[in-house]
Amino acid sequence: MQAPSNHGDGQKRSHPRTNYASRLICQKSSEQTLQRMTEQGYPSLLNAILKRDDDVAFRLQDDISDKPHFLSMNPLCHAKCRNAYTNKKSVEERCRAKIQKREQTDNLQESQQRTPQILTRSGRSTTPIKNVLFVESHVTRKVIGH
Ligand SMILES: [Zn+2]
Repeated sequence: MQAPSNHGDGQKRSHPRTNYASRLICQKSSEQTLQRMTEQGYPSLLNAILKRDDDVAFRLQDDISDKPHFLSMNPLCHAKCRNAYTNKKSVEERCRAKIQKREQTDNLQESQQRTPQILTRSGRSTTPIKNVLFVESHVTRKVIGH
């Protein structure tokens, strides 16, 4: 029997849950200046979350996408944490770092894909023809050059 359930616990078991009794961004409850997240502050936090794509963003993105629900939780965060998290400069830096990291990963994967082809240049039938031609013409040019 499939009774409709609104608990949602089964669906999101692996997703980190935000504890709204703690502070929104750092999830700590230290005694610092607190700010309530309001409608005015919402756009910049949303922007930071979408661009940063970090652990905090992963935890909050579901909640924050439902704005009335999110604000109804009366989310509190430290003024310091919020300023640091939504700071335009640091969001952009984080964004850049993310892109650079992705490019590095792409380059790494590319060279990892290339390496086995270079290592199998013994002319066996398993070597791709294109690669054999490349290796041969390379060698030929070297021989002619001397
Ligand atoms: Zn905090």
